[in-house]
Amino acid sequence: MNSSSPEPPDNNPNPAGWLHEPTPPQYNTDMRLLVIEDDAANQRFLEYSLGQNGYEVDIAPTAQAAEKLAINGQHAAIILDLGLPDEDGLALITRLKQKGVRAPVLILSARRTLDERVRGLELGGDDYLTKPYALPELLARLRNLLRRNAPVTGTQTTLQVQDIQLDLLRREARRGEELLQLTTQEFALLEYLCRNAGRIVSRSMILDQVWGMRIEPDTNVVDVQIYRLRGKIEKRNAPPLIRTIRGVGYVLRDK
Ligand code: CA
Repeated sequence: MNSSSPEPPDNNPNPAGWLHEPTPPQYNTDMRLLVIEDDAANQRFLEYSLGQNGYEVDIAPTAQAAEKLAINGQHAAIILDLGLPDEDGLALITRLKQKGVRAPVLILSARRTLDERVRGLELGGDDYLTKPYALPELLARLRNLLRRNAPVTGTQTTLQVQDIQLDLLRREARRGEELLQLTTQEFALLEYLCRNAGRIVSRSMILDQVWGMRIEPDTNVVDVQIYRLRGKIEKRNAPPLIRTIRGVGYVLRDK
């Protein structure tokens, strides 16, 4: 009997480990994601975890590969690691937006400072998740992004508060006749304020509902974005639309 290389006993129900669970994921082609990440372990983790949650995943390990896939593919959202081998992720976002890629971008990064986060959001990132993150948080942010960018259904395609008008289909905002140049984040923030016009919304409500963030007690990203939004919607000789309720939050006046 040749006993030099015995077969291992087959008593492990999942011999290949957690990456190869036997349950086939339920693909939903509306939920195709592009993951731009160069680290092999992170790629496997994202591909597996997102697959298990019903997403179909394309992986791009470089900015160059990502650009091709993003332009050709119909992705519901893009998950982007900022540290790529061939190009900075922020530069890639700018180029994708210029080339007409409309999928919302969730930035993953170890860069923690507020400046970097705000810069990422200004350049067209739609949300920002700091590494290390927990999978449930990633999934929650993703759902939030997809919900925000989902086609508007039903009859309500516009919102109006005072002379602010939002076209929810075209994602256009006007004050009176003037078309406002808002970023994706600013539009989402204004939409949330309009939906809650006349009601005070706290910073944590805004963080949760607009950014999908549960707890970020040390961040002033809301104040920064409100400041920028005011700069675009307020008129010099008119009473302010967005009022600060000190220590509480903000309210968009409805009359
Ligand atoms: Ca990386």
